This record gives sequence, C-alpha cells and structure tokens, in this order.
Amino acid sequence: MGHRPPHRAGRTAREHSVSTRGKCSSVVLQTGPLERAVFLGRPNRFLVRFRNGAAEGLAHLANSGRLAEVLLPGTELLLERCPQNRIGWKAIGATWLARWPGDQPRTVYLDATRMNRVAEELIAQGLIPELRGYQIDKREISMGGSRFDFLLRSGPRCFLLEVKSVTLAERGLAFFPDARTERGRRHLQVLARYGGRPGRRAGVLFLVQGAVDTFLPDFHNDLEFARTCCAVRNRVEFLAYRVDPALGSDGSLAFAGPPTRLRVPWRLLDAGVHDAGLYLLVLRLPQQACIEVGGLGPHTFRSGFYVYTGSARRGLGARVARHLRRRKRFHWHIDFLRAHSSHVQAFPIRAASDECELAAEVSRIGGELVRGFGASDCRCAGHLVWFPEIPVHMAAFQEMLIRRRHMPVGMRGDSGGHFIRSRRIDS
Ligand SMILES: [Zn+2]
Repeated sequence: MGHRPPHRAGRTAREHSVSTRGKCSSVVLQTGPLERAVFLGRPNRFLVRFRNGAAEGLAHLANSGRLAEVLLPGTELLLERCPQNRIGWKAIGATWLARWPGDQPRTVYLDATRMNRVAEELIAQGLIPELRGYQIDKREISMGGSRFDFLLRSGPRCFLLEVKSVTLAERGLAFFPDARTERGRRHLQVLARYGGRPGRRAGVLFLVQGAVDTFLPDFHNDLEFARTCCAVRNRVEFLAYRVDPALGSDGSLAFAGPPTRLRVPWRLLDAGVHDAGLYLLVLRLPQQACIEVGGLGPHTFRSGFYVYTGSARRGLGARVARHLRRRKRFHWHIDFLRAHSSHVQAFPIRAASDECELAAEVSRIGGELVRGFGASDCRCAGHLVWFPEIPVHMAAFQEMLIRRRHMPVGMRGDSGGHFIRSRRIDS
C-alpha cells in the first residue's frame, strides 16, 4: 500500500480559489494544503475513520458511492480541517501508489459535492462541447419527484442536467454506479420525459477520475440501471468526460488540463446483457456454529467471513435476491449457512466464465477452503472459502472482481471475453 507518513499539521485547509485563466484555460478547483492520514474504516456511508500519527479520528465523507476499491485499509486520505463542523474533518480525496500488481498511482476527489463545482466550471468555460452556449440557470431543482443538479439555459432552450462523480475507473474502463441505485434509475426516467419535448434537452454528465478512455453503465452492479440507460438514450444524453485531479507539492488538490471525452460503446450493451452469469456471496458468521448442511451433514463453521461462488444460467438477479433473503425453503448448501449469517453481500459478475475456475481463484487469494461445500455437481474441492477478516477489504479481492467484470467488455490486459448469449453455463 503506497501511503506516505502522516503530514505535519498544516494550516487550515480552506478552498481558496475557483479560478479561470482566460478562455482556453483548464479547470482549477484548488483546495488549500490538505492533511494526510491513513484510512482505517468506514463506520457508515458518510463517515471515515482515520489515523494521523498516533491519533485516530473521524472525518465526514460527502459521497454516497460504495468506493470499495478506493477505500482499502491503508489508503492515504486527504483531509480538510473544518473547525466549524462538529466532526472537525472532511475527507476531500485519496491517493495511492499501487493497490495491486499493475496498478497505477492515482489521486481522486472523494467529495462528490465538489464535483458539481467542477461541472459548473467546465460548463462556464465551454469545455463540454455538447453544453456550449448554455448557462446555469438554476441549481438543485425538483422535477417529477426527483432533484437534479442543474437547469441550463441558452435563450429559449433548456437543458436538465444531472452530474455523477465516477471513481470506479480501472484498466481503461469506467463503470457507474458502484452500488445499486434505484434513485439513479428514477432520475433517468424523469430526464427522459423532460428531454423528449421540443426546445428541451436532458442529460447526465459523468465526471470520471482515472486513466480510462471508455465508459459504460455498470450492468454487473445494477442491470436495471444499465437497461434503463439503453432504453432512454435517444432522449437522454450521456456525456462521459475524464477529469484529472492533481496533488500539488504544497499538498493542495486541483483539477488540471481540459476534460477528455470518453467513448461509450453502446453496441456492447445493445448486443444483449443477459441476466445470467456468476456471483460471489460474502457472508459473516458472528460466532462458531455446528450446522447441518443438507446432504453434506453436520459441519462446524468457524466464526468469520465466507465467500461462496455460484452461477445462474438465467435469473441471476432473482437468484442473488433469494440468497439475500433469510426466509425460504432450503435447497442449496449455502442456504443452511446463510440462515446463521448476520450479514450478506452479493457481487454479480455478468460474464460467460467458469464458476469452478472463479471458486478456485477465490481460494487462491487467501483463506481456507471448506471441502465439498457447494460442489455436489462438479469435481471441485469446494465452492466456499473461509476468511478471518472481511475479504471485500482485501486488494486481491477487489482486483479479482474488477478483472472479472471487465472481461466481457474485452478491455486492456484481458483476452477479450463476451457476454452470455445462448451458451450453457454450469449452475
Ligand atoms: Zn466447481
């Protein structure tokens, strides 16, 4: 993990400038010097726990994304002191040298509210060609039961715009959302109704941080969102731009250089993303338990975390939802363990790959295989692996998930996978 030692206490880091340097300048949204700290955990969505020297503390995080591949324990946080705020600190960004082999050093803005300010600057400077000539008329406007970031105007013409901050940008490809978003899907439907009328346009501006050239709605995390994107895209404009934050030698964070337009290969989604593929279930067993597991008989399970690998030839979403439910008729080995688990998280991978190969890969990242579990129909040693700590916070787990999810898109470093068509997948 590439974090540097904690920075000495700097002066109050206050954002001091949003400036432009003439017409063709790049965006500058510069903070004051930020304090460096080490990320320890995220007690809830809006708080992060950090260590700075010998001291531990909490900081506010204005980002509703999951950020699982960014916020790995040990990642360096960039904090702003907020004496007027009860918590006292705000997490503005994060930086790392390498999280896994082949990873590139990166700096990201975590504060999603600031990304709206970046969007304002880009629009004002005419750096988003599709929005040139438009000016911001209103912010935070309510429409159709949803709230949108901007209403833009150009004479009598209007543009309803929503801005999304994207940090899930790896191996050349950016995905959004990084967690299921029913709210995001409703946004798209309202935008489609608005944008379908004369003199009105509607769109989503995805501001992507990371060395990528391609953007796609994340059909793994949220198939319904991706399908809605496809359905509304003749009425809603999808504008994906890469913006690069840079950390100055004084510890300040700013955006430098003009944004770069990303390609959105719709044909990949149009070709059909089926509700099928593989999934990983991460379960937490709070205490040791002797559990009678169907045909496997009684087995003593240690407390800790378990990763189960499964697949569904069709209805992957429904299968995963079934696993998340506690009450049901028990059918699979995993149902018996799930009944004793306090927490379950699911990671669908909508790609045509081998379930047994994925199970073997999970056992290689660490932990200990539970022999025979979930492998009644195959020759594997097992499809369940025990981990003492939560595997989702392991760099190797995140790297595996990202690589597997990029396979159907055939991005850099992959042999070029494919989506599931009629091919049979083992279940
Ligand atoms: Zn197997």
